[in-house]
Amino acid sequence: MSVLEATKRKVVPVSVFELFSIGLGPSSSHTVGPMRAAKSFIHSLQKKRLLPLIREVIVELYGSLAMTGKGHGTDTAILLGLEGESPESVDPASVASRIASITENGQLRLGEDLSIPFDPDQHMLFRRGDRLTYHSNAMRFKAFDARGECVANDVFYSVGGGFIVHQDQIFSEGVANSDVHVPYPFQTCKELQEHCLDAGKTIAQIMMENEKIRRSEAEIKSGILRIWTVMQESAQRGCQNEGILPGGLQVKRRAPSLYRKLVQDEREEQEDPHRVLDWVSLWALAVNEENAAGGRIVTAPTNGAAGVIPAVLHYYQKFTPSPTQEGVITFLLTAAAIGILYKEGASISAAEMGCQGEVGVACSMAAGALTAALGGTFAEIESAAEIGMEHHLGLTCDPIAGLVQIPCIMRNTKGALHAINASRRARDEKGENRVRLDEVILTMRKTGEDMHSKYKETSEGGLALHVPVNLPQC
Ligand code: SF4
Repeated sequence: MSVLEATKRKVVPVSVFELFSIGLGPSSSHTVGPMRAAKSFIHSLQKKRLLPLIREVIVELYGSLAMTGKGHGTDTAILLGLEGESPESVDPASVASRIASITENGQLRLGEDLSIPFDPDQHMLFRRGDRLTYHSNAMRFKAFDARGECVANDVFYSVGGGFIVHQDQIFSEGVANSDVHVPYPFQTCKELQEHCLDAGKTIAQIMMENEKIRRSEAEIKSGILRIWTVMQESAQRGCQNEGILPGGLQVKRRAPSLYRKLVQDEREEQEDPHRVLDWVSLWALAVNEENAAGGRIVTAPTNGAAGVIPAVLHYYQKFTPSPTQEGVITFLLTAAAIGILYKEGASISAAEMGCQGEVGVACSMAAGALTAALGGTFAEIESAAEIGMEHHLGLTCDPIAGLVQIPCIMRNTKGALHAINASRRARDEKGENRVRLDEVILTMRKTGEDMHSKYKETSEGGLALHVPVNLPQC
């Protein structure tokens, strides 16, 4: 069984709320996943009643986490996770002061009554050049008692989109979601299509039926609308927050000035045929600049690509003839179904697939979702999603200095604009397409497997190599 196959068998993202989770920037695999892993490690110590005995914790980061973890805030996320925070609830505005306090005091709070010494040089180890076998994004957590005995030694993998896998889940059959039996299970587009045909339902209705094993329809709808609200809020903040993004690359936030220009043009009723392009780019920039600044965003399906789906959903809301709340729900349920196909058939981890697995997948999800919200047929939705990915095949991940800024932020504008174009082409052609979605997903997977590791979130190739920067490296 390959690494990818093992991942699919253990982590089945059956829920729209797993693919779209409310978290914080800048990275789903390097920030959100590690924070969840650290919290889970502490939780397991609590469950085993070991926590009061702990006097030292050592964290080792491997593979891509070691190479680009500093730029992606992995160390920060892990410290917060060890202190019991989760991506969904941590206040992004408090993060800098919390980390400053930990490093100044040299103390980490593992619980109500337990603080232990913490020294980043001794306790947070970036094992650059070392890789564990299962997945490039690996973390080892070790806990020691007062006698220096290692009482816990756990490995977690951050497998993309904020999903984590514990070492014990890899070779034990069906641990994750073993209690979950959805009425319409699917791993391929072909299976999804068969369900739609047999049940006479749309993709969104199939997803809704699957979601209902955990929540009522009313809860699902309000949860989805909450996701949309957070997406809108992050876009709004991105349009207002000026300045230079953190990390030292001196990247200026572009969304606020573009927003002012677009609002001014509308006030003056300026006719600009490219106005729609600029608005879509604005929403993508705004969300991704918030992500790069460590702000609150929706992982969709990853953080690096978090601007694509909100930008296309804003486009649906502002520029299509009759947008509705039901349309928003259809959009996000359909997007989630397409995201599941990628998670099942390939991966949404840049450390495995490069950027085709992030911006490419987000584009594909958005293209199919927009088509569904506009009343497209199954064939049109499938075709839009296929076109969305086909032209991202081979896209590498090469963030300069390991920061989710260049090329990431601007790349989200391209993903969003291509999604809208893909949707229009698919609807124009009534879904006629020589290439099936399952075929392009397989192609993406094989391309990702063939891609050299220097183009898979290690910052050892591409722009990360050829653009000179003077930043301290981890
Ligand atoms: S280049 Fe793409 S995959 Fe890599 S960090 Fe940036 S957005 Fe994510």
